[in-house]
Amino acid sequence: MYDAVVIGAGVVGGLIARKLTSCALKVCIADKASDIAMGATKANSAIVHAGFDAKAGSLKAKLNKLGSDMMEKVCSELGVKYIRNGSLVLGYNDEDKKSLEAILENGKLNGIEGLKLIDSKELHHLEPNVSDDAIWALLAPTGAIVCPYELCEAAIGNAMDNGAELELGFEVCEITNDESGYTIVAKDGRKLQAKIVINAAGAYSDEMAKLVGDNSFDVHPRKGEYILLDKEYGFVTKHTLFTVPTKMGKGILVSPTVDGNLILGPTAVDFDEKENKQTTREGINSVIAESRRMVKNAPSNMAITSFCGLRSVGSTGDFIINSPQKGFINVAGIESPGLSASPAIAEYIADMLKNDGFKLDVKADFNPVREATHKFSTLSDEEKNEIIKKDPSFGKIICRCENVTEGEILRAIRTNPKATTLDGVKRRTRAQMGRCQGGFCSPYITELLAKELGISMEAVTKSGKDSFILTGKTKEDLKDA
Ligand SMILES: Cc1cc2nc3c(=O)[nH]c(=O)nc-3n(C[C@H](O)[C@H](O)[C@H](O)COP(=O)(O)OP(=O)(O)OC[C@H]3O[C@@H](n4cnc5c(N)ncnc54)[C@H](O)[C@@H]3O)c2cc1C
Repeated sequence: MYDAVVIGAGVVGGLIARKLTSCALKVCIADKASDIAMGATKANSAIVHAGFDAKAGSLKAKLNKLGSDMMEKVCSELGVKYIRNGSLVLGYNDEDKKSLEAILENGKLNGIEGLKLIDSKELHHLEPNVSDDAIWALLAPTGAIVCPYELCEAAIGNAMDNGAELELGFEVCEITNDESGYTIVAKDGRKLQAKIVINAAGAYSDEMAKLVGDNSFDVHPRKGEYILLDKEYGFVTKHTLFTVPTKMGKGILVSPTVDGNLILGPTAVDFDEKENKQTTREGINSVIAESRRMVKNAPSNMAITSFCGLRSVGSTGDFIINSPQKGFINVAGIESPGLSASPAIAEYIADMLKNDGFKLDVKADFNPVREATHKFSTLSDEEKNEIIKKDPSFGKIICRCENVTEGEILRAIRTNPKATTLDGVKRRTRAQMGRCQGGFCSPYITELLAKELGISMEAVTKSGKDSFILTGKTKEDLKDA
């Protein structure tokens, strides 16, 4: 019997699990996927929004501001990269200027500090590569960037190091409750029992709510396609550049990432399929066209990958955080700015539980600190040599594009939450994320995974289920022929 089961190992579920673990609760995180961070957390713009555009008075506005205020400290505790680079919303004409003024006023109501409307001269002084057609901008100095799956992994790893458990491949299909608490049943028959259930199932949070008879909301996917440019083009802008938001969202952005790439996107297209993450020619073309309107040099032929994320758009227009019955909490419709708000959402849930009569203490030996996993590449040669002396695997580069060592890959496979797939290693170490996208290093990583997991190389997958990489040994196949 757990105190709490969190359904969904995304950034929101992860930070809630960490918070509840710090409150001395016995927590289990359950996710249907083969790894953590496989939902919206895997593919988004990675911006910690300042919070100027969420509708004043909404839960989104409140939790965005609080989350943005908390994010730097949370990232520092968890050893996660965080850069407060500020953001600029670009305006191209008088109509846009009026919109920027309205956003500025809304931002002031949301309590966002430092917002300022700037003219063309100041804009181009700050960002010389911004298109000459942009003549106004709203500057938000508190905007920042972070890596969403790194934050999710660190939050879940830290919760696990403090006692939380993780059940992967656990697709919740039934939830019952009686006087002893909730029983959460997975498709494969596994069962978990808990007094509290937190429904942080992203795109499927409406379906989880329906399992306890709550039909009060729906969630539909809104597709967002991106392209990611090579690190050579990370210099194009220091700030995150937005266009004026529309009713579909924040519009296309151009932004550096914490790892030095340049990200362009996302599109915003409503559709029905909750699993379709295919990119389309139409979507990518519109990202290229819009980003060309924003900056002078973002060469799309320097793209190293493209990807698609699905926003979980709730039917109420706001985050849906409520408790339809005692001990069951919906954390649904967490579209953007859900990443920015995630630390504040975790605090909000803990407060809800306290107000609902649950006993939340302080876990005396809770350690909020997690060692940074990216630190090795930032060390001096002397510091690296010291580590290599103790563990020679840190002296062997496996991913040449991102300079990732064997030691870092082994650590990703051995530490919470343990990587078991090629993509799991990728998200934890950046190996396979560089220019060659794993062309060179994936066979070595496959070999390391096989050895560490005690399985054959043929049994290693890219991302779980049947995504096998190898079918057999070429020479053995030839022998049979
Ligand atoms: C295109 C795009 C751009 C965005 N940009 C930003 C941004 O720049 N800044 C920002 O603040 N926010 C942004 N967001 C929003 C942000 O990504 C999300 O708010 C956040 O990732 C939500 O996290 P989550 O944990 O709630 O959901 P998810 O990450 O979707 O996690 C939900 C988890 O639930 C699991 N699950 C589902 N069904 C079941 C089941 N039956 N049983 C067990 N597990 C289940 C899934 O496998 C998944 O891992 C963006 C989102 C998208 C898609």
